[in-house]
Amino acid sequence: MKKGKLVIFSAPSGSGKTTIVKHLLSKNLNLEFSISATSRNPRGAEINGVDYYFLTPADFEKKIANDEFLEYEEVYKGVYYGTLKSEVDRITSIGNNIVFDVDVVGGVNIKKMYGDAALAMFIQPPSIEELRKRLVGRGTDSEDKIEMRLNKASEELSYASKFDVIIVNDNLEKAKKDAEQALHDFLSD
Ligand code: ADP
Ligand code: 5GP
Repeated sequence: MKKGKLVIFSAPSGSGKTTIVKHLLSKNLNLEFSISATSRNPRGAEINGVDYYFLTPADFEKKIANDEFLEYEEVYKGVYYGTLKSEVDRITSIGNNIVFDVDVVGGVNIKKMYGDAALAMFIQPPSIEELRKRLVGRGTDSEDKIEMRLNKASEELSYASKFDVIIVNDNLEKAKKDAEQALHDFLSD
């Protein structure tokens, strides 16, 4: 299996991206998750330095001013997410493949930066109604946070064609297998 490649996952919130990424990380594919920085609060069982680097909005803005981000987006109003250059350096120095979980704009931007060295995968939910069910079922967001996420979903869905691979996550087991196959093909190349 090749090392030093990049794999990007993007999707509307609730599509099942985190579930699929965690499954792939458990496989022996020399993958290392790029831990993003965010100014939102931890959700559910999330741990600082594992799921995200949780920063205050002021600290996040300081890092923007210091040019410490490879890319960042204000994904929701007042909520920043970004990939720290130091995180990419950390994984590159280990020599592993990097897995990014980023919003659709960040995904397209990272793909542009790395071209053929990157595989951009879009995880597509069967419908917005199903997204709502999944976000409610996940039980980690308040009703207004769920609405905020759903309000963005249709615009995010329009980005699908900009990605190398679209994985439809209707049946989770099939989606995991499809993602694994696409990743395997890319890393064997
Ligand atoms: P994302 O990272 O895209 O926001 P998650 O991986 O957190 O999404 O998944 C959202 C919720 O939907 C979780 O509770 C997860 O267990 C559930 N889920 C994921 N895939 C499916 C699927 N194919 N069918 C039903 N529920 C799913
Ligand atoms: P969540 O709050 O559900 O963890 O993430 C919300 C959105 O922010 C998701 O689409 C997720 O992929 C995106 N996101 C997480 N980290 C980054 C990042 O470093 N950069 C960008 N552009 N988006 C990110």
